[in-house]
Amino acid sequence: MDVPFLNLGAANDEVRADLDAAYARVSASGRYLLGPELEAFEAEFAAYCTARHCVGVGSGLDALVLALRALGVGPDDQVIVPAHTFIATWLAVSATGARPVPVEPDESTYGICPDRLADAITPRVKAVLVVHLYGHPVDLDSVRAVADRHGVPVVEDAAQAHAASYRKRRIGATGVVAFSFYPAKNLGALGDGGAVVTDDPRLADRIRLLRNYGSSRKYDHQVQGTNSRLDEFQAAVLRAKLPHLDKWTARRARVARRYTQALAGLPNLVLPLVAPWATSAWHLYVVRTRYRERLRSQLADAGVHTLVHYPIPVHRSGAYRNTEDVRRAGPLPLSERLAEEVLSLPIGPHLPDESVEVVVSAVRTIMAGLDA
Ligand SMILES: *Cc1c(COP(=O)(O)O)cnc(C)c1O
Repeated sequence: MDVPFLNLGAANDEVRADLDAAYARVSASGRYLLGPELEAFEAEFAAYCTARHCVGVGSGLDALVLALRALGVGPDDQVIVPAHTFIATWLAVSATGARPVPVEPDESTYGICPDRLADAITPRVKAVLVVHLYGHPVDLDSVRAVADRHGVPVVEDAAQAHAASYRKRRIGATGVVAFSFYPAKNLGALGDGGAVVTDDPRLADRIRLLRNYGSSRKYDHQVQGTNSRLDEFQAAVLRAKLPHLDKWTARRARVARRYTQALAGLPNLVLPLVAPWATSAWHLYVVRTRYRERLRSQLADAGVHTLVHYPIPVHRSGAYRNTEDVRRAGPLPLSERLAEEVLSLPIGPHLPDESVEVVVSAVRTIMAGLDA
């Protein structure tokens, strides 16, 4: 039996009737941008996050860029970023003209390490951008304590963390939080989409302005904005899916629990930890082993499809390796080791129990064989 990494079609099948109604509503409405579906989705997603405001934008990357711009980040500023993340986190900083300053991860949760953050922050840093990587929240209190000492804001990249929580509060409930609705995220559109969630009405207004050519009234352009709007179609799709998010997250957690229970104690295999203050969204189930390539190829032989998040550290990518940002950062050995050792097992709300068992027994057999 083949086990795909993720079955996106299954989520759509489950909400098929609501999706069909959403298409019909939008296509008949005559409104395709900045209309009632977007407004309703923004209210519903803000309520879901228990925050006051949600501003829908064109992608998760744009959500980060516009949040940073709205906070006044620009050329000659520096912004702290995690060294170990998806490249979008760094690209968002570069897009504002500021310089990303990478900080190595905490080795148990893979999010930014607050102690290393405290060592890296300088008066030139204008903001701290953290990522709730793989769906596991970073230690926000520790991060905020450092940022507060320097009087700079924290922006959260929650592209992988819809429905996660930190100390019993939803990610998005506090702060300035960027989400992505890329199809493979835990809440995914049928195309690109993103949002910024915040309690701050002035910041929300500023992002609304920036996403729509710097204009709140037609042809009155107050700032040099951009075009980055979550369209009516995607907003309607997201509205159809949002009521299922808690159930889908619970199913992910069930898969994760089974993996953790069945794979515990295998030599040379490090399983993901959940900090006592965290509820993970389980966007990914990431294991670590120095035999990553052998495990990955033997799993593929057994029909189990895995992915690596991410195989090339951002500072080694063609986009950044020859930049001043990376020269200044110096060596980032932890991120390099993670890039060699991490492996994401199949996980998703529609992964059948039988498939989970196929993965479990394949991993157990392969790891036992490696040890011999
Ligand atoms: C997916 C992702 C993004 C970017 O989202 P897009 O909607 O693809 O632009 C940013 N950060 C992280 C951590 C992501 O996983």
